Amino acid sequence: MTDNHHSCNNMKVLKFGGTSVGSAERIRNVARLISGRGQNIVVLSAMSGTTNTLVEISDYLYKHNVNGAKEIINDLERKYRQVVALLFTDVEVRMEADEEVAAIFSLLRSLARDSFTSFEEREILAQGELLSTKLMHLYLRESGINSGFLPALEYMRTDKNGEADMDYIRVHLRALLEENPDADLYITQGYICRNAYGETDNLRRGGSDLTASLIGAALMAKEIEIWTDIDGMHNNDPRFVEGTTPVAELHFDEAAELAYFGAKILHPTCVLPAKVNNIPVRLLNTMEPSARGTLIHNVDTSGSIKAVAAKDDIIAIKIKSSRMMLASGFMHRVFEIFDNYKRPIDMIATSEVGVSVTVDSPLKLEHIVDELREIGTVTIDRDMVIICVVGDLEWHNKGFEAEALAALHDIPVRMISYGGSNYNISFLVSKEDKIPALRALQKRLFGNHDNIAD
Ligand code: ASP
Ligand code: MG
Repeated sequence: MTDNHHSCNNMKVLKFGGTSVGSAERIRNVARLISGRGQNIVVLSAMSGTTNTLVEISDYLYKHNVNGAKEIINDLERKYRQVVALLFTDVEVRMEADEEVAAIFSLLRSLARDSFTSFEEREILAQGELLSTKLMHLYLRESGINSGFLPALEYMRTDKNGEADMDYIRVHLRALLEENPDADLYITQGYICRNAYGETDNLRRGGSDLTASLIGAALMAKEIEIWTDIDGMHNNDPRFVEGTTPVAELHFDEAAELAYFGAKILHPTCVLPAKVNNIPVRLLNTMEPSARGTLIHNVDTSGSIKAVAAKDDIIAIKIKSSRMMLASGFMHRVFEIFDNYKRPIDMIATSEVGVSVTVDSPLKLEHIVDELREIGTVTIDRDMVIICVVGDLEWHNKGFEAEALAALHDIPVRMISYGGSNYNISFLVSKEDKIPALRALQKRLFGNHDNIAD
């Protein structure tokens, strides 16, 4: 497809989460952040709390409590009326905003009926992003900014497998941009889409990041910015460790490792379209817009340890092979048992006489252990924590894994996993040792003394 008006690859996608647009004041703040930066596409979540409230309304309706649902709808409408009153100064624009809000709430009331299915539920869940984007669009207009409104329901689409329909998205999004080539910037809804049958649907909770990533991929955008109220991904857990700092740069694979280990800023599946299309993702903070945040891309920055993360509530299971020592098929049998119960294994450590694995939930554990006892002696350690060190751990490099191990010299370590990727080494420790381990690693890897990572 040729670009006459748009050189999309100069565009950026700027995504703002629910707290970033959570009040009239925050909406104004975002408007300042997005204006004067060129023709970018701005993706908004619903105002914070709204999606949860819409879920609650649906729950009442599933239980056939229509009056209960309507009361919550009324409360929510009052909240939006207040936002409108605070946000707009121009009387005409305010009236228009009031009408938009009224229309959405009368739609919500019409969906609040006794015969309630997932069809109505998905319509209800879509209203949060429609509200936030309409308010932003009108506020920009009041501020003299010509924003183009891109209705996500006209281009964001999933196929019969529930996967993003990239071709559809590309064609329809570009067509919408061509319709309004002179806009200063564009506003669109995160999270919402249509499914293969044309019904209103969504990309699951937290789906606005996926929207941003899909738009970035569809337009081959220059960069995707994910704005939250944290200054990027930190090098350790600030709840337990003092002196953590934002990580300047991460490889997508490092970010994926960290996401599993509880760094909840970005879900790996949400950034997959960006990763495979080689579009950098930058995490930025609306409360501190000039901070450099964290850049996530496909570039390896060798020679440094980037971050430490932990995952709680891990169960370690050791299976010591009795008769089948050295026999082939033992490992296969172990994995098969977990697989039969659809329980994923996280860490693995093996020796000639046995294997230790971890799971992050006790689901089906009794059955699994029962079957494992047929092939070996089983020992279980509960309340364990995986401590994951992420960075340049490509095996040829010397010293990094040694540094991590050295940091833990006073801490009993139950399992170690290294070499599964170029980016991490993981340790399993008991719950009581989690905070001491995180602090010891912080001090040794990122402390004031000379860091081998520098
Ligand atoms: N509003 C949706 C949610 O709260 C989508 C998002 O914010 O990413 O899950
Ligand atoms: Mg090495």
